[in-house]
Amino acid sequence: MAVAASAQEGLRRYRMYVGGEWSDAASGETFESFDPYTAKPWALIPRGGAEDAARAVEAAHEAFTAGEWPGLHASARGALLRRLGDLIAENAERLADLEVSDNGKLISEMAAQLRYVPQWYYYFGGLADKVEGSVIPIDKPAFNYTKHEPLGVVALITPWNSPLLLLSFKLAPALAAGNTVVIKPSEFTSASTLALMELVEQAGFPKGVVNVITGFGPEVGQPLVEHPKVRKVAFTGSSATGARVYETAARDIKRVSLELGGKSPNIVFDDCRIEDAVKGAVSGIFAATGQTCIAGSRLLVQESLHDEFVDKLVSFASTAKMGNPKAAETQVGPVTNLPQYEKVLSYLDIAKGEGVETVLGGGKATRPECGEGWFVEPTVFTGVENSMRIAQEEVFGPVLAVIPFKDEEEAIEIGNDVVFGLAAGVWTQDIRRALTLADRIQAGTVWINTYRAVSYMSPFGGYKQSGIGRENGQEAIREFMQTKSVWISTASEVPNPFVMR
Ligand code: NDP
Repeated sequence: MAVAASAQEGLRRYRMYVGGEWSDAASGETFESFDPYTAKPWALIPRGGAEDAARAVEAAHEAFTAGEWPGLHASARGALLRRLGDLIAENAERLADLEVSDNGKLISEMAAQLRYVPQWYYYFGGLADKVEGSVIPIDKPAFNYTKHEPLGVVALITPWNSPLLLLSFKLAPALAAGNTVVIKPSEFTSASTLALMELVEQAGFPKGVVNVITGFGPEVGQPLVEHPKVRKVAFTGSSATGARVYETAARDIKRVSLELGGKSPNIVFDDCRIEDAVKGAVSGIFAATGQTCIAGSRLLVQESLHDEFVDKLVSFASTAKMGNPKAAETQVGPVTNLPQYEKVLSYLDIAKGEGVETVLGGGKATRPECGEGWFVEPTVFTGVENSMRIAQEEVFGPVLAVIPFKDEEEAIEIGNDVVFGLAAGVWTQDIRRALTLADRIQAGTVWINTYRAVSYMSPFGGYKQSGIGRENGQEAIREFMQTKSVWISTASEVPNPFVMR
């Protein structure tokens, strides 16, 4: 079991999952995980280190090279994944509740998310036995065909904002492709990933195929990335840590996929359906307390609509109910962790120092329903210039920078003028304009008259510094495979051995 029978001082004590066994860290040390609504610890998590990372990689390597897993047909891997999907569906409520205790996101959002997560296991379970090689009509006397093979041990490093959803983006295709994995969840939200391992065990995955080590990034994540037997790292998190992971992985020519930050433009034209666009702007920045990589944190509004739109947005957003994320009626919850809370507050000061105008919020939320939690008022800044730090840097909180633009050309120029390129929103009723923007905005996802839609079927990933590689959709399984070309000679005699054939 993930949770030990004897809880220490009322805290739930979790254990790591390595080689099919539940264990503490080699050092025996633990650290506290905090509930962001109460700002109090609620769980104890093993503080793993390099020794634990190495043990997990060895277990995954053993499972990849020996035992049941390498001999399992892709159809059988698919069946295991679908079984895991069923188990997640049966336990969705419990897992959602755990996520909220750890990351403070709304129960309404997490319950819906956890009900949707099984689809990743059904989709990639179904795809496992449909990865086909090809026969090449080769220009030599030979029969030449390709096959797609797994990479080996893959490290999956995940963040705290949607732990099980973002893990599933990686875990389902990695296993469908036939790899074994070592997961390192965020130090702030390890509990739900460890609880998921009970379901992995119940589903019947062979020992060592899925392993979880917990602890701090530099102590256990870094040695995991450095381990020579890890062949790929799939990472979601900040651009700074992503760059470090990329650099480290490069030393051993490991593959990486990186899903990093964003500063996505949500672009509102004066021919939009205003009420829809207001909801789209709110959903882009205040849903999930703005803690999503796809947050529409730069709201670009056409000058002719600017004042009317900002008024409507502020009056809609100011009614948002803040408070206990486990209450069904709450619309904006706390920030997930103390360092992030401090970071968001520091950006409020940075923006004010840059001379913006605060038209909503702008500080800590001290409403009684926010208790002792790490709450920030939903904030809207106007008078923002795109060159300001508040428009260029990822805040990852409920903080919106509103930037006016004159026409289509200027909207595209401002929209693209950031180092990121993860997502964008466009609000217009003009189909020509919508398609022009979809072509010219440099982002991995463009939403027209909607925002924050994500599916297991549709490729997801970043342009520019927002990342490398794609998650979701049919491409995703190939991110976890390598191609082999096989040649069989059909020549009647061996040609000149001193000349390239
Ligand atoms: P990080 O990018 O530092 O963390 C992401 C994951 O990487 C965590 O599991 C973390 O572990 C791990 N990690 C940290 N250092 C290393 C390392 N040297 N080697 C391997 N793994 C490592 O994000 P933070 O949690 O520190 O959040 C900081 C900022 O990142 C946020 O303010 C936000 O701007 C952005 N962010 C972006 C996300 C996205 O979806 N793109 C998600 C979360 C954050 P540990 O938790 O122990 O540090």
